[in-house]
Amino acid sequence: MNWQTREIAPGLYLVATPLGNARDITLRALDILASADVLAAEDTRSLRRLMEIHGVALGDRPLVAYHDHNGDKARPKLMAALDAGHSVVYASEAGTPLISDPGFDLMRAALEAGVPCTTAPGPTAAVAALTLSGLPSDRFLFAGFLPNNSGKRKSALAELASVPATLIFYESPKRLGAMLRDAAETLGADRQAVVCRELTKKFEERCAGTLAALAERYDEPPKGEIVVVIDRGAARQADQATLDDALRDALGRLSVKDAASEVSKIYGIPRREAYQRAMALGKN
Ligand code: SAM
Repeated sequence: MNWQTREIAPGLYLVATPLGNARDITLRALDILASADVLAAEDTRSLRRLMEIHGVALGDRPLVAYHDHNGDKARPKLMAALDAGHSVVYASEAGTPLISDPGFDLMRAALEAGVPCTTAPGPTAAVAALTLSGLPSDRFLFAGFLPNNSGKRKSALAELASVPATLIFYESPKRLGAMLRDAAETLGADRQAVVCRELTKKFEERCAGTLAALAERYDEPPKGEIVVVIDRGAARQADQATLDDALRDALGRLSVKDAASEVSKIYGIPRREAYQRAMALGKN
């Protein structure tokens, strides 16, 4: 099918693109790609390829790169096009712009300049994984990528330990095993989780289990793109020895105050109690 150019109103259009299966593009996204005056993409080659697959001609319209490394330079040019009354479309390499992807600064600049903005929503790996996970979908917290450093990762996980929502993380295959081990230690080895790999692609995989079992399963890095979905947890029950171990681990990374705060969140104990015990352990 050939997509016809049609008049579209001036403004910024965010367009979601497929995660892996080119047919997951929406008809409206194709209309916008066919019609916008200026195209901007995180990865111009993949947008060009997607348009070719769907028979959308670029013609003599500009297709410009806009990503984390050139945003400050490219943004004024896109803003100038918007100020001149053009329609500008922005697409990520895969999925929804701004979701662990560039586009936030462009969107803010356009909104602040009073430019009309709209979105052609579509795939995002976080929601695809959540819906496939089988874990409760009534309330969820998308936490993006965790820090690379294990100490910082554990602290970030501890912040989320008692959030009453399903947790969603993006993760690289290389770090998956370490992330699952830290999650098992911080959130509880028995907490249920699901690893979703290569969503919408040929080797799509959904693997469910406890955090401990998944950490073992993915000790060897798998291939492909990964989302980890973790069930919400009840406050963990712990005896004094477990609390002391957790405090010692946290004291190795954090100040007494922050260690007490982290452990009090994970185990649902009063912060004062955790602080006093951390002080005692710190002295020994
Ligand atoms: N903006 C994208 C979105 O809306 O999902 C996310 C971009 S982020 C830079 C890339 C991460 O998304 C990957 O490292 C992975 O965690 C996740 N992801 C993207 N495509 C995926 C897929 N097909 N299967 C599983 N995870 C995917």
